[in-house]
Amino acid sequence: MPNLSFDSDNNGRRSFELPGSRPHYNPDRPGQVEHIFLDLVLDIARQSYHGTCHIRIKPVRDGIDRLTLDAVNLQINSVQAAGIEQPFDYDGEQLQIRLEQPTQAEKTLEVSIDYQVEQPQRGIYFIAPDDDYPEKPVQVWTQGEDEDSRYWFPCFDYPGQLATSEIRVRIPKPYMAISNGELVDTQDLGSDRIYHWSQKQVHPTYLMTLAVGDFAEFKEEWQGKPVTYYVERSRADDALRTMGKTPRMIEFFSKAFGYSYPFPKYAQVCVNDFIFGGMENTSTTLLTDRCLLDERAALDNQNSESLVAHELAHQWFGDLVVIKHWSHAWIKEGMASYAEILWVTDEYSQEDGAYYRLGEARNYLAEDSSRYRRPMVTHVYREAIELYDRHIYDKGACVLSHDSLGVGR
Ligand SMILES: [Zn+2]
Repeated sequence: MPNLSFDSDNNGRRSFELPGSRPHYNPDRPGQVEHIFLDLVLDIARQSYHGTCHIRIKPVRDGIDRLTLDAVNLQINSVQAAGIEQPFDYDGEQLQIRLEQPTQAEKTLEVSIDYQVEQPQRGIYFIAPDDDYPEKPVQVWTQGEDEDSRYWFPCFDYPGQLATSEIRVRIPKPYMAISNGELVDTQDLGSDRIYHWSQKQVHPTYLMTLAVGDFAEFKEEWQGKPVTYYVERSRADDALRTMGKTPRMIEFFSKAFGYSYPFPKYAQVCVNDFIFGGMENTSTTLLTDRCLLDERAALDNQNSESLVAHELAHQWFGDLVVIKHWSHAWIKEGMASYAEILWVTDEYSQEDGAYYRLGEARNYLAEDSSRYRRPMVTHVYREAIELYDRHIYDKGACVLSHDSLGVGR
């Protein structure tokens, strides 16, 4: 229940902090995670999967004999370090690996966790038709932000740890799997197929993703890099109408930010029942299929175009430049919302950009007057997701646009 008490230190506004809020800090680092490799087999019909999570970590010091990983509601079968079975404790929330051989500083260690998951409730979502929605497609997709990657693989689940990543996944035909980075290999195994994706640029666990479905694929490119759109086959006609400006947006943001699009490809996958509008997983944005525009909706709907611009801008602000703690989420959300103004200004007019910014200012002021007032950076909350409000998106955009690039002047 929200705290409705008025706080005199808050200029008469309600307090942002819900009961149970507390300061949040990143955990102590036992080492630097260098690489995460998920090797998974999906049983889509049974909404379950099993596999191995390999984590390569460089310890910060000698003598660490315990590694604590975030891992919620997974079934942990066994743990190995350097190929040797290790004892572990698991309470359903955290996995404590008791290293029989304590670490040596800088001596890289590979930990392999064999695990399985049945009918997960968060992190990874199995979508399937049912009696009420017989037309629903069969899909699997993930959502890590903010702290839900731990529901689909064991990890050091906070944005201060950046690593390269790799996902190898076995799925039944005719489904395809899309993930971060480049597709390095596919392999046919009778009625199954293996997709092997590899991301060579470091990124945090919350941006690791997997999307599986029977998608129609559209391929464009920007400066030789694939720019791809994936939609359910029945919505194939709407893909270009909704996402077709992406190559021009990549060109525009590369110039506006003074830094070329940094990843080897840019994919957008429109998925069913997505819990947000979009999620900027590194080089592989997931979008709700509700953003897809048919001919009629395309006439007066700018929301989808702004969503595409927002998630794309995150590839620079959020994915290339990563916040170290959720309290700084305004840096990426403010920039992505500001990028919407930049795009509207460039694509339409100065007036359109100024009006768009006015809309964002009004959104923020409405929240400030009716809900609460808070500092844009705060580490006091119950769950990080509470931070994703008008203060960091809309006010963030206004702060960033106030005196830069001449928008609205
Ligand atoms: Zn965003």
